Amino acid sequence: MAESRPLVLCVSGHDPGGGAGIQADIEAAAALGAHAMTVIAAHTVQDTRDVARVQPADVALMREQLALLLADARPGAIKVGLLGSPTQLPLLADVSRRVRAPLVADPVLRAGGGARLPAAQWLDALRRELLPIADVLTPNAAEARTLAECADLDAAGVRLLALGARHVLITGGDEPGDVVVNRWFEPGRAPRRFAWPRLPGVFHGAGCTLAAAIAALLARGLPPAQAVEDAQAYTQRALGRAMMTGRGRPIPGRLT
Ligand code: PLP
Repeated sequence: MAESRPLVLCVSGHDPGGGAGIQADIEAAAALGAHAMTVIAAHTVQDTRDVARVQPADVALMREQLALLLADARPGAIKVGLLGSPTQLPLLADVSRRVRAPLVADPVLRAGGGARLPAAQWLDALRRELLPIADVLTPNAAEARTLAECADLDAAGVRLLALGARHVLITGGDEPGDVVVNRWFEPGRAPRRFAWPRLPGVFHGAGCTLAAAIAALLARGLPPAQAVEDAQAYTQRALGRAMMTGRGRPIPGRLT
């Protein structure tokens, strides 16, 4: 009898250096006992320092890929990362309606190296079309402030819930301090904080790794609060084993 693994459908960007994007999704899912199926929403030109260019994938091609994939397999979770264009958003709404599995959305607005990514130009579309289908939204602090239009992170989390996300994890890796504070918001409950010692260095692909790990654990059937807690522990371990592949930022050691 062939082995079966929980499936995670990943719709995200390709980083040719293998630090972020689709490769982060594949590795994190595999490390956590799931199998990633991947639809590329954007190609990128980048190195470990920064993103130079993003080329959106063809929406008709993505639609065809998704149609065949979903006729053949049943993902236990969906992960959405870097998108190439707002015309890709209705595809995701359609997928979330058809699949009925938890969807983790990482709203990537800016690369760690500073480059503005395409979604930064269509915030309203993200608020209208991505947040309401997100079971877990994983913005970093800067992305949360931008999407919520609010500087205070506790208020931003509440606002992102009000905009339709079922749960929100605001990560604090991009905030100053020796401790990284991640804030977890669920409707009707006080926000919860997770504190992690800040590891030396600024990493490339940490956010993708965390979001993919959450999706893999949801696909394995963990409830959201537990998936988010375990995925942070996994990501912290991967960052502790980060490796230099280029001259810029280290990438997480997701498989070691
Ligand atoms: N490239 C791709 C394909 C991504 O998905 C992301 C982030 O999600 C990035 C680059 C930027 O990653 P980082 O901010 O860790 O450099």
